[in-house]
Amino acid sequence: MGLLLYFCTKIIIKCHSDDRREEESRKLLVGVTEILRFALDDTGRCIMSEFADKLIHWYAENGRDLPWRGTKDPYRIWISEIILQQTRVAQGYDYYIRFMRRFPDVFTLAEADEDEVMKHWQGLGYYSRARNLHAAARSVAEAGAFPTTYEGVLSLKGVGEYTAAAICSFAYGMPRAVVDGNVYRVLARWMGIDTPIDTTAGKKLFAQVADELLDKARPALYNQAIMDFGALQCTPASPDCMHCPLAESCLALAQDRVDALPVKQHRTKVTDRFFNYIYVRASGHTFIRKRTGNDIWKNLYEPLLIETEEDLSENESTLWQKLQGVLEIREGENKIREGESKICEGVYFRSLRKGVRHVLSHRVIHTNFYELRLPDDFHRLEGYQRVAEEDLHKFAVSNLVYQFFSLILGLNNQKV
Ligand code: SF4
Repeated sequence: MGLLLYFCTKIIIKCHSDDRREEESRKLLVGVTEILRFALDDTGRCIMSEFADKLIHWYAENGRDLPWRGTKDPYRIWISEIILQQTRVAQGYDYYIRFMRRFPDVFTLAEADEDEVMKHWQGLGYYSRARNLHAAARSVAEAGAFPTTYEGVLSLKGVGEYTAAAICSFAYGMPRAVVDGNVYRVLARWMGIDTPIDTTAGKKLFAQVADELLDKARPALYNQAIMDFGALQCTPASPDCMHCPLAESCLALAQDRVDALPVKQHRTKVTDRFFNYIYVRASGHTFIRKRTGNDIWKNLYEPLLIETEEDLSENESTLWQKLQGVLEIREGENKIREGESKICEGVYFRSLRKGVRHVLSHRVIHTNFYELRLPDDFHRLEGYQRVAEEDLHKFAVSNLVYQFFSLILGLNNQKV
């Protein structure tokens, strides 16, 4: 049986090793289906069910006991799946509990103000998830109930094929295979597939293989099992092959290619940005604005920002000139110097931290934090709203701004 599997998989690899063109990809997918069908009809049933049985058995002994497991409520499953996209379970756990406590059903979420939803998401990152959740909740509330078809679930804002498959299999028992990063890894290694997972051909191939391997009688259990298996056993950096129930039939292990799989074709291009955040302080108030436009941290709040083409931490007089333009301060032309605080009467400027590196998926934000104290009669900053410092905690902010506020307000142990 192991040999048959090995044989089938070798054909898949061979068919696919030269795959460069669309037509070849199409043929390959047909070929894979035929191979798997062949395996399924003759001796393959054993291979398929053995794979699923071993995963499910492993899951029974090692699966994680999580608060969103064991429910068939599509709303709870939806929230947990969205939180867990790009987020580790350990981090997402508390957010899920807090989120469900405040928004226990889709109608409560739909009625909430978006600022409050964002505040509950603060620190999780990838904030478009929260905006989409909120928008989708409103459309569900309008329709009167959560969709009960795969197409209906897939049509919700922010729900892709993976999330729709998870919701439909967990909540409704539909035979839909989930394919997330964990599943890609397990399948690529177990079947020795080196087709890049981030290509159209790769996505089609893995979707088809996942579908064929799905235990259609137990889709929810199988999906949870393979996801946990990828997260805990067949991990990216140090899979525990020594104690793996699939080791005997694992092609990557047999070929000593575990570290090389799965393959990704494209490397993420990372761009650098340079932020100078200035906390403007006057008579117990500061100034913040909501970020808008198609950029990072949309709808989150931030203090005065001067973004520059390059790092200005060693060239603060240039920053000061830009600040003067924004604040219309005429004095202190050449007074800004390293370590100098008083610029002119009633105006103090100081650097709080330089070279803070904030890494996002496609960007590195190089940031300098400053404080600018102005006379008490300074009340207006174009484009920013004036808020009392004690009310800052009410606004949803990015992790970077949270770090800044904590630093300047000395709130290291308090929630901003
Ligand atoms: S043997 Fe190793 S690489 Fe293969 S499925 Fe198990 S943990 Fe993953």
